[in-house]
Amino acid sequence: MPELPEVETVRRGLAPSMEGAVLRELELRRNDLRFPFPADFARHVSGRGITSLSRRAKYLLIDLEDGKTIIAHLGMSGSFRVEAGAAETPGTFHHPRSKDEKHDHVVFHLTAGSGNARVIYNDPRRFGFMDIVRRADMATHPFFRDLGPEPTGNELGADYLAKRFLGKAQPLKSALLDQKNIAGLGNIYVCEALWRSHLSPLRAAGTLVTDTGKPTEALLTLVEAIREVIADAIAAGGSSLRDHIQTDGSLGYFQHSFSVYDREAQPCSTPGCGGTVSRIVQAGRSSFYCASCQG
Ligand SMILES: [Zn+2]
Repeated sequence: MPELPEVETVRRGLAPSMEGAVLRELELRRNDLRFPFPADFARHVSGRGITSLSRRAKYLLIDLEDGKTIIAHLGMSGSFRVEAGAAETPGTFHHPRSKDEKHDHVVFHLTAGSGNARVIYNDPRRFGFMDIVRRADMATHPFFRDLGPEPTGNELGADYLAKRFLGKAQPLKSALLDQKNIAGLGNIYVCEALWRSHLSPLRAAGTLVTDTGKPTEALLTLVEAIREVIADAIAAGGSSLRDHIQTDGSLGYFQHSFSVYDREAQPCSTPGCGGTVSRIVQAGRSSFYCASCQG
């Protein structure tokens, strides 16, 4: 399942082909993915110029010149690939993605400069979805209105999280996965950030806030760790884009080496720790952590 860094990598891979291009035709090969496509979807967007490609949480946002935005979510197994005529072919990733044409559900036929390109959305499990919204209505759209700040850059602050965590007995793991607290942060990177900051996923979120509602040192460390794990993963995605340029043009997901995620029973790699990584289940999701150095 793609997490935020994978979606950001897909955005960066698609941007050279899509930004500034004209979406000559949107070809829908079925009526739905996870949800039905919006009424007259193809008619509303075909022939429009694409002004920019951005991202909010795990949503790709394709801005059109008429003030509308196509929202695309990759779900569990969605991927894009760019074919023919693209100025720069964005590359493939370590995980083999489906290129079975029967799973090619949406084709963006693009004209950029004198050339044509096709951006193809493939999704074997069809948990992905697409919608269209007026950019001006985005903030109040049900997908976006309750989302917290992005876990990248300076948007996410310790003071903000202190307000959200104040008095909460909720485990830190669940509080960090709550999209109202932080947008787009998923299971893998929550586990990694907690390990980096030596905090247990079981710890009550409220323990990271002082009696006067200020962030503790531990919360400051955690915020920094969240920003770093996401930045590192985006950087790794960027380098895999460069490494695989001029291959088959598919944009999928990449395999990172994680420090704690999916490493049950392996030695903890915190220097001098000597502990072992455990797996527990919290709210139906696996948490990986080291009970020796995460308290
Ligand atoms: Zn440890």
